[in-house]
Amino acid sequence: MGTRFRLFVQPPFADARSSPEIVEVSSRPGSVTAGPADDRMFVVEPVGKTCPYGVNRGPLGTPYLYLAPWTGKILEPSEPDRYGDFDHLRPSMPGFEAAHVFGCVRFTLDVWERYLGQPIVWHFRDHYDRLEISILPQWDNAQLGYGYLEVGSQFEKDGRVLPFSLDFDVIAHEVGHAIIFSALGVPHPGTEYPEYLGFHEAFSDCVSLIAAMHFPSVIDNVLAETRGNLYLANRLARFSEFSPHRQIRSASNKRTMAEFVRGWKDEHELSQPLTGAIFDILVDIFHESLVARGLISRAIEDLADTAEFDADAEVLVQHAFDRAFARNSDGFVQALVDARDIVGTYLAETLWALAPNFLDYGDVARTMLAVDQAESDGEFARIISRNFKQRGIGELHAGVHVKGCEHRSHIHSARTLLPIDHLAFPKMRYREKFLLSKSSRAQ
Ligand SMILES: [Zn+2]
Repeated sequence: MGTRFRLFVQPPFADARSSPEIVEVSSRPGSVTAGPADDRMFVVEPVGKTCPYGVNRGPLGTPYLYLAPWTGKILEPSEPDRYGDFDHLRPSMPGFEAAHVFGCVRFTLDVWERYLGQPIVWHFRDHYDRLEISILPQWDNAQLGYGYLEVGSQFEKDGRVLPFSLDFDVIAHEVGHAIIFSALGVPHPGTEYPEYLGFHEAFSDCVSLIAAMHFPSVIDNVLAETRGNLYLANRLARFSEFSPHRQIRSASNKRTMAEFVRGWKDEHELSQPLTGAIFDILVDIFHESLVARGLISRAIEDLADTAEFDADAEVLVQHAFDRAFARNSDGFVQALVDARDIVGTYLAETLWALAPNFLDYGDVARTMLAVDQAESDGEFARIISRNFKQRGIGELHAGVHVKGCEHRSHIHSARTLLPIDHLAFPKMRYREKFLLSKSSRAQ
């Protein structure tokens, strides 16, 4: 018995047909109170908050550190119904967004706490008991920082404002950052390799992708669109047309470390070879499992290897998948769920085994191979090493950081700022403090 929420798998603005699905998260009935709030986290919708947490500038330009908690006014909290559930809230009702963002965080934690084998302990526990989930509609980003998860909106050229509070992928990705900090710890100053930053983004994307694969509709859609021929869809970069799911589209990429040896600008781009390798591993394990279950023949699998370059073979392979999927679609679902859980477990075990200082992609690859050895006697060693090798992971390394993406790197620094870091900021004069307190309740 848990607590019910209505969650969009695909935000309504990405797919007009999408409607929220009712899911039950693990929270005991009645344990989630108005906010929503529980003993781990709470949602607030601040009134009069003008800037995001992190490093901001005062009215006279002095930088200052701005951290949770929000102590000003808030909008009316979202209320549970008499059973303790939040699924009575519909998308247009006040409180829906707050319930939605809470439900997405809890859903993602449920998935990953199972893989990790224990509840997440927040990395900011020394200063905050609970995570503040804060909604700041006029801000164009989302971030996980010390004690807070803050979500803004995407501002479209046509004037539409798309709230990230309704975007499962974005929220689950930010939860991914919290999971990494919790399991891995925060690196010591000066020990962050560029690939550590890329790893954060890649792993957070995988957290989001694998969490989304726990919605039955995501599995059903992907299989219905491809009839289980994920392998070829991935090799031919077909997910861009097949998959309605954005996280799958971006995980299915061809980038390698060779592109970053001479320098990199943005850790989100740098993360793509690693995300792509992990996604390819998932697809290969799925494919192997179809053969092992007798759902497709070894001959078709061999043919699929050449289908990338041979249109006739491609047609034959797709026909074989169409027939096999029609015969036993449940078997395909089971194979994909198994592949998802193998990769989820391997990533969680990898996370426990890694250390944050001087971490690079090669460490991730070696650790995952060791996890595979321990978990299954190296059953997937060939798949894992082949996919990392194809991306140049462990052999080629990210070069220097090419400046020019200050905005994004600024966001990154906000993530690891600690309350004590305020000592490193210049002292703000009384007049500026006064102006600041007048211009916003953001103190
Ligand atoms: Zn991120």
